Amino acid sequence: MHIKPGIRNYDWGEKGRSALLPQLLHLKPKKNVPFAELWIGTDKLPVLAKIISAEKCLSIQAHPNARQAKSGFSAGIYHDPHPKNEVIIALSEFHLLSGFRPVSEIRRLWAGAPELSGALKPPGSGGLKDFCRRLLSLDQSAANRILGSLVKRLKKQGKFTRRNPEYWLLKGDRERSLGNFRDKGLFFFYLLNLVRLRTGEAHFIAPGKIHAHLQGRGIEVMNNSDNVVRAGLTAKKVNVPELLKIGDFSPGKPKILAVNRTGGINLSFSNFRIKMSRENILTAAPGFEARYEADSASILLHICYKKLRTVLEVSC
Ligand SMILES: [Zn+2]
Repeated sequence: MHIKPGIRNYDWGEKGRSALLPQLLHLKPKKNVPFAELWIGTDKLPVLAKIISAEKCLSIQAHPNARQAKSGFSAGIYHDPHPKNEVIIALSEFHLLSGFRPVSEIRRLWAGAPELSGALKPPGSGGLKDFCRRLLSLDQSAANRILGSLVKRLKKQGKFTRRNPEYWLLKGDRERSLGNFRDKGLFFFYLLNLVRLRTGEAHFIAPGKIHAHLQGRGIEVMNNSDNVVRAGLTAKKVNVPELLKIGDFSPGKPKILAVNRTGGINLSFSNFRIKMSRENILTAAPGFEARYEADSASILLHICYKKLRTVLEVSC
């Protein structure tokens, strides 16, 4: 079976001469055309790999597990009956939001923003789902007012770095809010863990985990499924009731997997496996022919990029 990768030009992709995908594919970048994703897969495989190149923030989203996807598909909510597990492997510094922060951290951030704490009490322990329900059901005019004054103050304050949620909140606001309209997804910068991956580090996003890619280049490996429930930072349809139904509202610190430090990543799912290693099975001089023996359908990527020199093997 021969797989021909497909390019996706979503509006959040990198543009211009330094964009990653045209460089990888030896294409001439077109002015003002974003290159967001390269899809490596086929509907005959249960797994899909993507090289992603994000300049703008992607939507706040979650994916269903097997049971939810099956029942949601028959109810017409989902595109397909498959769950979606997702692994992101960084090819550059990569920033994302993933999973709820510990409640004490959320309370501290909330108290530090008078616009937010004046409008809505911070969550109590264990009450994150109800807290999100209240936030997302706010009247749009109230959300515009609260977030509008927060953004105004933060802009004046300035001087935020990529380590501050405020830096990303202002970026999300520039990209997704129009005129007086303020996207309710902006609330999530204070609620979700801000994760920074360095080249070669990876992060697993289980079904239900609420997340958003913010900026960076990486490889994503996932079940071959298109099932996404969005909560904000998007012009696409937002489905709050479904997010509240499938979302994982438990707080905690994010886990980072590292191929650089540990020498490998091994992950197994019900119908695919991911193995990433520093073995030099394919490292070869130009013109050298390397052989790879697979005992099942596999996607093999040989990565030599910046400080990362590794082999990613996805098999089903
Ligand atoms: Zn996702």
